[in-house]
Amino acid sequence: MDTVSFSDLARAAYCPRQLYYARKSDDRSLPADATARIELAFRYRELLAAPNRVTEVPVDVSVETYRHRLESLRDRPWWPAIAEPDRTEVFLSGRDCHGVATKILEPTQLPASDTAVPTIATPGAPPESGVWEPQSVRAVAVALALSWEREQSIDRCLVEYPAHGVVREVRLTVRRKATYRRTLRAVRSMDGPPPRVDDDRCTSCSYRDTCGVRTRSLSSLLGL
Ligand code: SF4
Repeated sequence: MDTVSFSDLARAAYCPRQLYYARKSDDRSLPADATARIELAFRYRELLAAPNRVTEVPVDVSVETYRHRLESLRDRPWWPAIAEPDRTEVFLSGRDCHGVATKILEPTQLPASDTAVPTIATPGAPPESGVWEPQSVRAVAVALALSWEREQSIDRCLVEYPAHGVVREVRLTVRRKATYRRTLRAVRSMDGPPPRVDDDRCTSCSYRDTCGVRTRSLSSLLGL
């Protein structure tokens, strides 16, 4: 059976119908501003050492907040590894999914850890706590792919929000793995356009015209 890419899986977790359109248009590219935000995940030390440079890069919080957040990251046990990872942009090929992990933090870099920890960097903002569901599904897929390659159980993945100076840990709980498996089944069984979700997710979806959902503003204009 073909493996599913991490990005397709995450997109399906957001909206399966969006993945259907992305596949039809063969459009998987990331906008330049998203790439620029992800690249900040490789500059934590530099930005911490030279706060003035923060004004020159695409952070989405104030310089002061960004500096405070990087200082908090520096206190976490995995800081040396995430700031200077041994391996970056690593292609992983698991039993069910494949794609690129942003970093692999090796056990030699991690205190009190026998296993490696993968990370994924995302250009957007974090939720108040935890991570958004598409990122949770992607994090599980990345950790399972690394487990498959190393024949070793890996039970967590870090999700980086570099434009916000935030890093969140995703543990592979029973609930998270169940959501991952459900999403994987949805992708593999997709043979036509899935139903619309027709909720707040549609507001920022670039396929809403093609999809034909009514935007909230049009609905309210029409008094519907
Ligand atoms: S507009 Fe809404 S339902 Fe349609 S693809 Fe986008 S998120 Fe999914």
